[in-house]
Amino acid sequence: MKAALKEARGTDLDFVINRIAAAGVVGAGGGGFPTAFKLKTGRPIRTVIINGAECEPLLRVDQALMTRYPAELLAALATIVEASSAEWGVVALKEKYREAHIALEEEIKNYPRLKLHILPDVYPMGDEHLLTYSVTGQTIPPGGLPLQAGAVVINVETLYNIHEALKGIPVTHKYVTVTGAVRRPATVKVPVGTPVENLLELAGGPSADRYLIMDGGPCMGKVTSPSAPVSKTTKGIIVLPLDHPLAAVYQRDLNRDLKFALSVCCQCRQCTDFCPRHLLGHPLEPHRIIRAVTYGLADVTLPQALLCSECGLCDLYACPFNLSPRQVNRRIKAELRQKGFRPTGWGGSGPLPWREGRQVPTRRLIERLGLQEYSARPATLREGEVTVTRVRLALKQGAGAAARPLVGVGDRVQRGDLVARTDGGTLGADLHASIGGIVRAVEGEIVIEGGGD
Ligand code: SF4
Ligand code: SF4
Repeated sequence: MKAALKEARGTDLDFVINRIAAAGVVGAGGGGFPTAFKLKTGRPIRTVIINGAECEPLLRVDQALMTRYPAELLAALATIVEASSAEWGVVALKEKYREAHIALEEEIKNYPRLKLHILPDVYPMGDEHLLTYSVTGQTIPPGGLPLQAGAVVINVETLYNIHEALKGIPVTHKYVTVTGAVRRPATVKVPVGTPVENLLELAGGPSADRYLIMDGGPCMGKVTSPSAPVSKTTKGIIVLPLDHPLAAVYQRDLNRDLKFALSVCCQCRQCTDFCPRHLLGHPLEPHRIIRAVTYGLADVTLPQALLCSECGLCDLYACPFNLSPRQVNRRIKAELRQKGFRPTGWGGSGPLPWREGRQVPTRRLIERLGLQEYSARPATLREGEVTVTRVRLALKQGAGAAARPLVGVGDRVQRGDLVARTDGGTLGADLHASIGGIVRAVEGEIVIEGGGD
């Protein structure tokens, strides 16, 4: 293992990028941006930041990986730092991740260009704008990328996948925290394409009679179904009883919600005062957007919605009426993108002086969302106990174009075989068989049935 990494070190960035591309690595934290493209910057990188914030309540994947695989993670980070000629590699995590902190601290002594950065325990913290500012003290321009502050941001599990990619091992598995109203919360490693219902079984099944299932964290996740497959970006599966207040938020009818928001908003501007992007100095004022929409104004503030990270703090925490500026922003963003709207530049004031006092402690958010009971239960990492006999691999596992199938119905594949690829230069990621077996379908997704994995 170390030999493969040594071979990668001291070579050029192209070698590292090609290995990462061949392994089909995408951002595993939810964004799904193909990692090879992230590193093809064409500009100097000063800091490689590893995002260990894992700020969504209840998720435990990155904490578990930092605790169990500190040597592997830091070896991969050192390789990227060296190959990209960056000055620093920084693992950013919260103080409360004690076990991860101790494990990394011990190992990082071996790497003079790597260091740890302790983040405040606030939500959100994993947003690249907020994280880059916390680590480097530089702000990314509104609507911009970390590279404009000399940084590249990589999620912890993505870094683990890079470690494997440097050894020639493609992405076939995903770590997922299964928690909420389940009997045995756990963080499990499963083949990509595993149905959600299998993950529920691994966690002892739901403990509520009627429930909804969320893919992702409780703040930014989306409702999913038992038959939906795990993708390369699935970070959490959360079961919420239907009578839980948070479940009600995710069952609201969007159109009715929008009408309600527009008629009830009292312009108190709490949504703006707590908005983390606004506090960082971005020209985003959700209360003004709501006002413009309410009065049917083709207002100049509407494009501000493009700066919204959809963190949900405005609707889940700030608004006294539980209105959802986030939903309004989401809809405006979709319309502007459909029209091909391209902003010409945003300006931005830099962080507001009162920003620190307005940040929302995670503990308080958990209380507000009624998640204390679930948050207190551990979701211990369990590896190597999974038998999956059928997977559905979506051809598009993240940002960019869908991959083009290389297999047909009836073909036999081994775990790790390349089954779909993106054409050279096109933004996207290659796809590999996550279990061995027979290809049963190839249409929008590749279905493989096998004898277990
Ligand atoms: S917090 Fe709610 S009521 Fe206040 S301005 Fe924002 S949307 Fe309107
Ligand atoms: S979801 Fe709300 S709080 Fe979060 S960035 Fe968007 S407007 Fe701001």
